[in-house]
Amino acid sequence: MSTTLSPATDTPPRHSPARPCRVEDVPQWDIETDVAVIGFGAAGSCAAIEARTAGADVHVFEVAAAPGGSASWSGGEVYVGGSGGTRVQREHGFEDSTEDLYTYLMMAGGPGADAERVRVYAENAATHFDWLEAQGVPFKGTYLPGKWIEPTTDDTLLWSGSEAAWPFSTRAKPAPRGHTAQFKGWGGGKVLMEKLCARAEALGAVVHCNARALSLIVDKTNRVVGVIVRIDGAERFVRARKGVLLCAGGFIVNRDMVARFAPGALACSEVVSGGNDDGSGIRMGMSVGGATIHMDQFFATIPFFPPESLVKGIFVNARGERFINEDAYHGRVGHYVLRQPEGKAWLLVDNEIFGRPVIQPDIEVAAVGESWSEIERELGLPADSLVHTVTTFNRHATEGRDPLFHKATNWLRPLTEAPFAALSYCIGDLKAHAFTMGGLHTLPSGEVLDADGQPIAGLYAAGRSACGLPRWGEGYSSGMSLGDSTFFGRQAGLAAARR
Ligand SMILES: Cc1cc2nc3c(=O)[nH]c(=O)nc-3n(C[C@H](O)[C@H](O)[C@H](O)COP(=O)(O)OP(=O)(O)OC[C@H]3O[C@@H](n4cnc5c(N)ncnc54)[C@H](O)[C@@H]3O)c2cc1C
Repeated sequence: MSTTLSPATDTPPRHSPARPCRVEDVPQWDIETDVAVIGFGAAGSCAAIEARTAGADVHVFEVAAAPGGSASWSGGEVYVGGSGGTRVQREHGFEDSTEDLYTYLMMAGGPGADAERVRVYAENAATHFDWLEAQGVPFKGTYLPGKWIEPTTDDTLLWSGSEAAWPFSTRAKPAPRGHTAQFKGWGGGKVLMEKLCARAEALGAVVHCNARALSLIVDKTNRVVGVIVRIDGAERFVRARKGVLLCAGGFIVNRDMVARFAPGALACSEVVSGGNDDGSGIRMGMSVGGATIHMDQFFATIPFFPPESLVKGIFVNARGERFINEDAYHGRVGHYVLRQPEGKAWLLVDNEIFGRPVIQPDIEVAAVGESWSEIERELGLPADSLVHTVTTFNRHATEGRDPLFHKATNWLRPLTEAPFAALSYCIGDLKAHAFTMGGLHTLPSGEVLDADGQPIAGLYAAGRSACGLPRWGEGYSSGMSLGDSTFFGRQAGLAAARR
């Protein structure tokens, strides 16, 4: 569902996320609480748990008929490690120092990485995993080797990012850090969210479903003192003595916002969302002066591995040239694919490694031939361009090296077994999936900052309503969004309760 802005000629809605309500216009308080949490997904559930544990009264308002948000549709994979390793990493022989996790996350955060946030996370991620288990989230404790998007088994630990790939592996010792809630098949997020939401309710958080937050309420000093919520069709004025927490997800289903802020994501035809990432949380924050950052960044994935044999193929663009080490995380490869000239890219494979991507098995096979020059002609590439690229790659692969793009040795194999094929990753042919990473500028405590970098009293944000750890599409690793949302949701809940 998209909440695009009404054309200027329409009568504007009485209450909108884009306009705060002044406290003097509040007719009465229908609900009074210490902390009002908007959204009962990954961040909101953890915020509610911590705020209740700290003794605050908590009301949660969730627009959907049931709790869980996008997180309940997710793979339930959480990116954690450091402190020598989580119990699962250690049990499987993976030592993971805090400094290696910190270095990796700083690289993954790209040019805008937030050192303070990354430091807090790196130092506490392993104990955050223990905390998730203490809330009742089951993790089987087993290790699944290989290259996966998410486990199709009920295993726990997997390689879920670019840790073992260049350039990350040159600066941080690689370790698998994806920890998936126990569930057979894709969809561990259901288990994760059932446990977290049940825990918040058991601790006494009052949960209102079918409850859409419409706009914030501010006093004359611009302090956020409440929120207007439509519950079962009726507007309710909610007073929040300690704060309002925006945990309402990102904006990928709001195509108007995507076009304005993250137009690159329009190339992705599929949204990664439970359906309510309409940007209302971010817009409410903006309405009271909250600054937004990295709004152009998004997670994008392409139908690549599994099967992992495809990682041994090579991507080329319309010039017949390679452009990435294909053993990097599929989201990183995806960003490189999407920005090639003319939106054109192909994955070259030979008979031995040919397979169809599990998430798009009907991917177009753009060319098949007995020689690479035949493939080059069928794709309409400049003469000798592709042949030169494959010949060079094959020569290096035979020598066990990739001096141009640094693909790791275990993924290097010359493409010499005919027939050969080119799978189409041209925009229009491939189904890429995306969610947004940009959002409100916050401190690690969740306090929302204005354009001067000053906290807006009474306002907190976490999860995809905020810009958290994941803030650079090229650096994302599976599990980072849930790791960030659950961990920084907790920090926001605590900070608001202690105010
Ligand atoms: C298929 C799929 C697989 C994924 N797999 C993974 C994975 O394995 N690991 C990972 O890290 N990430 C994964 N993700 C991404 C991850 O689930 C989200 O990024 C994460 O849930 C963000 O947490 P959040 O708390 O910000 O949002 P959510 O979990 O979506 O919670 C936000 C809640 O706010 C509610 N809401 C929105 N607007 C309002 C409003 N105005 N008033 C009241 N309520 C409102 C929504 O209905 C929702 O319940 C996956 C997502 C999908 C869809």
